[in-house]
Amino acid sequence: NRRIVLASRPDGKPVLDNFRLETGDIPQPDDGQLLLRTIYLSLDPYMRGRMNDAPSYSPPVELNAVMVGGTVSRVEASRHPDFSPGDWVLNQGGWQDYALANAGEVRKLQGDILQHPSWALGVLGMPGFTAYMGLMDIGQPRAGETLVVAAASGAVGAVVGQVAKLKGCRVVGVAGGEEKCRYVTQTLGFDVCIDHRAPDFAHRLAQACPGGIDIYFENVGGAVFDAVLPLLNTSARIPLCGLIANYNIKDLSAGLDRLPLLTGIILRKRIRMQGFIITQDYGHRHQEFIEAMEPWVAEGKVRMREDLVEELENAPRAFIGLLEGKNFGKLVIRVGGD
Ligand code: NDP
Repeated sequence: NRRIVLASRPDGKPVLDNFRLETGDIPQPDDGQLLLRTIYLSLDPYMRGRMNDAPSYSPPVELNAVMVGGTVSRVEASRHPDFSPGDWVLNQGGWQDYALANAGEVRKLQGDILQHPSWALGVLGMPGFTAYMGLMDIGQPRAGETLVVAAASGAVGAVVGQVAKLKGCRVVGVAGGEEKCRYVTQTLGFDVCIDHRAPDFAHRLAQACPGGIDIYFENVGGAVFDAVLPLLNTSARIPLCGLIANYNIKDLSAGLDRLPLLTGIILRKRIRMQGFIITQDYGHRHQEFIEAMEPWVAEGKVRMREDLVEELENAPRAFIGLLEGKNFGKLVIRVGGD
């Protein structure tokens, strides 16, 4: 049983030495438990927060403990009547080959999803759910409005933009590099996509939004938010989903305090900005998401690209890359053969 543990806490950007690969015995299930073999491990930006020893909406990963993570697994041994060896489940197995779970903590995967089990970690899983609820509940899209979303080729952003298109919005994506931008417009069907690494990014974004911005789905913060701020329309909505550009920041930088600029714009433009944590705020609305998203995915109206990396050993490097935009699509590690 291979497992990757948190060896030390990062000081700013995570490095490979923050992780350690260990091997050990395969655990044995007790009554009511399942032994699960990880097939796919989801890597997600929130894991950066769990590496810090700081208060958050979830406790940190302890030093020398297995890194947390959502997994699609197969039942290896079952001591619960509802599960049999070979069943596919969605669980929180973490960065390891085998995990124990109580039967009540896992969701059995059945039906069409078994054609693409890893989608339970992406478009039909937590990131898709995040995109859908943040957009529909906080963004409240209306036909004809302009929506901007960054990390547009990624797990959340790709779904936000495609659903906003289905709702009749004009959709402007922001992504890192020409290749991602081409994919976002040509395959995902966004109206425009702007490369945030271009030196004249703010100018290009303004040109792409001649009527201003009605919804800014916030995934990144940083320079993208700076460029969005002056373009916001009166009564704009900002679902505050993630701030990946800030996750490795250690301290607030010295210099001019720009908070009065932000609060001034929020006041004058009557902007509604709301943070949310998908599991905490919308767990009870999961069925609503599944009922909307499954048909869209089945009909090809919402697509998702997967960035599939082979082997558990490669998870630390892939995770560090995720925070730097090296992934292209939903980042998933294939841990075991199915
Ligand atoms: P992605 O698959 O989109 O991968 C992360 C992407 O972020 C990178 O590929 C990169 O894309 C972009 N990025 C990284 N650094 C920067 C930067 N400095 N400026 C601009 N873009 C940057 O990840 P997810 O879709 O899984 O997550 C997107 C966001 O949603 C994250 O902030 C995450 O924390 C948040 N989230 C929040 C949840 C909640 O409950 N609130 C739940 C799930 C996710 P590119 O190369 O295009 O710049």
